[in-house]
Amino acid sequence: MNRANAPNAPPRTYLRSSYHLDLGQEALQRNWSLYRRRRHREAGSRQRPAGAHLVEWTDAIDVVCGKCRKRLGRCVAFRSEPGFYGLVEDHPRWAAPLRMWLAPAGETAARPRWLWFEGDGPLALAHFRCGRCRQAFAPRNADRLAATAFEDQLRELVIS
Ligand SMILES: [Zn+2]
Repeated sequence: MNRANAPNAPPRTYLRSSYHLDLGQEALQRNWSLYRRRRHREAGSRQRPAGAHLVEWTDAIDVVCGKCRKRLGRCVAFRSEPGFYGLVEDHPRWAAPLRMWLAPAGETAARPRWLWFEGDGPLALAHFRCGRCRQAFAPRNADRLAATAFEDQLRELVIS
């Protein structure tokens, strides 16, 4: 497991926390991607709007295929004020409508995603797929997976 000071650790991200009205998977992914495009002001208010929830973010985490060791991509983990954890892809591009994140579209697309989500909040399932060895991993509960990544400040997450 790479810690923050590991030599090849993924780059730090600098958004430590933000406020969000919508804690759905799609909304958090869109807001994170906007932040990564440096449109900070759109990424989440720094002052708590009425009814908003605090979300705390980790640094980027390399996600690695447990079968062939390919680096699949990068995530960030979060802890939300209601008490659940989750993951979003650490990527500035976000254009896919929600259905693109669901398993059937991801599995059958010409270039299937390495990560997609099903559901929201503490029940969200994270689906991982390796483009090199074609391993499609059993869906993981994003809350439990992200809780470990968040609390242990992981910089690498091996999916097996
Ligand atoms: Zn693989």
